[in-house]
Amino acid sequence: MGGGVHFDAAIVRRYDVPGPRYTSYPTALQFSETIGEADYLKATRASNDDPIPRPLSIYVHVPFCTSPCFYCGCTRVITRDRTAGARYLSRLQREIELQARLFDRDRTVDQLHFGGGTPTFLSDAELAELMRLMRHSFSLRDDRLREFSIEVDPRTVDDARLAAIAAEGFNRISLGVQDFDPEVQKAVNRIQPREDVLAVMTAARRHGFQSISVDLIYGLPKQTEDGFAHTLDQVIAARPDRVAAYSYAHLPKTFKGQTQIKSEDLCPPEVKLALLGITIDKLTAAGYIYIGMDHFALPDDELSIALADGSLQRNFQGYSTRAGLDLVGLGMSAIGQVCDLYIQNERLLDDWAAALDRGRLPIWRGYRLTPEDRIRRAAIRALMCRGELDLHKFGERYNVDFSSHFAAELAKLEPLEKDGLLEVGAGRLTVTPLGRLLVRAIAMQFDAYLNQDSDGGKRRFSRIV
Ligand code: SF4
Repeated sequence: MGGGVHFDAAIVRRYDVPGPRYTSYPTALQFSETIGEADYLKATRASNDDPIPRPLSIYVHVPFCTSPCFYCGCTRVITRDRTAGARYLSRLQREIELQARLFDRDRTVDQLHFGGGTPTFLSDAELAELMRLMRHSFSLRDDRLREFSIEVDPRTVDDARLAAIAAEGFNRISLGVQDFDPEVQKAVNRIQPREDVLAVMTAARRHGFQSISVDLIYGLPKQTEDGFAHTLDQVIAARPDRVAAYSYAHLPKTFKGQTQIKSEDLCPPEVKLALLGITIDKLTAAGYIYIGMDHFALPDDELSIALADGSLQRNFQGYSTRAGLDLVGLGMSAIGQVCDLYIQNERLLDDWAAALDRGRLPIWRGYRLTPEDRIRRAAIRALMCRGELDLHKFGERYNVDFSSHFAAELAKLEPLEKDGLLEVGAGRLTVTPLGRLLVRAIAMQFDAYLNQDSDGGKRRFSRIV
């Protein structure tokens, strides 16, 4: 699949409905508390039995932030109490020990991601201790092929901190930028001067980070087309390897902090749509490849290479380059995936800590995929990551006749085909450059659970744009 994308405001408006992001299929809405530790232990044993040791990907959630960004939809704990980090770390140590026992030591950790919250809420000494524990308990890869990334709040790091983070083996950072416009920053309670953010990017390059990723958000209060265009110009001039431009999802009933955003300040829908158009135009004109959903990358970035050679993947962190890794989630609310089992930790800090204090894995809930889920997940992944699906090859691989198995889904795709989102023919489904932006709408047709939800997920999912 190439990196082409076509923006058509009228079509985008028509398909701008609430929908899952499909970082997993089925989505977390299907997770159930009937799945627990026994299921997880069984799955880890089965995964160790693979004749070729399967590498691991580890996600560590650090939930703390010192102040609330009003747009935030993350699982986080707001505190200025720095001792919270040390207490969290002591529980993480127990969790690391419990989890490390479950995985054979010949399984290397190829990917490591620290997310939050704010991982850099932890001090340099705490981060170093956490990495020491990880190295002691797991076989962390230490060559250039490792993908060790950390989300960095530019307000919390300076040159010396970046040097310390690099020295711990991290080779990728992602920076939350959102918008450089001071009026927008004030409206969302996240003041971070442009100069400071650009200085962090420059320092990150100097300290040898292989990949710098910048997160932007469109649709925030007080945003204007001119202001966001200016932000994009400055971001592009700094040449991050990846840019993610997320749509702001205003769901104040779900994310209480968003009630701080005044509805009269919210970006009108037509402006939000224009911001998306500007984002696509500017990034693609500057040579960025459209990876899919909200992601762009430079042509020599691994994501662009994986897109071109058909190896692009999708997991809980979004688009990824490695296939077949088991994912271990550490920290409150973290999600893991081992074989066909999804597993999620307790989402409240006290519950997560209490389980660990009892010496138990802090599992809250999970989901075991059925054979039918696996088929549907493969179809959704093919469309989202490769933009095409060969019906014959798919049928052979999953032992189904695609056209009859998915007759109802193919019928539901007809109006999308008429609108130019995909082409159905010659034994394959092909997502068009127009459909790539709206690929969630295509994927939703293969979701067996969406229609079970009486409101089609309106209250739970963000809109597509
Ligand atoms: S956006 Fe990030 S830094 Fe801001 S409150 Fe949410 S998790 Fe914390």
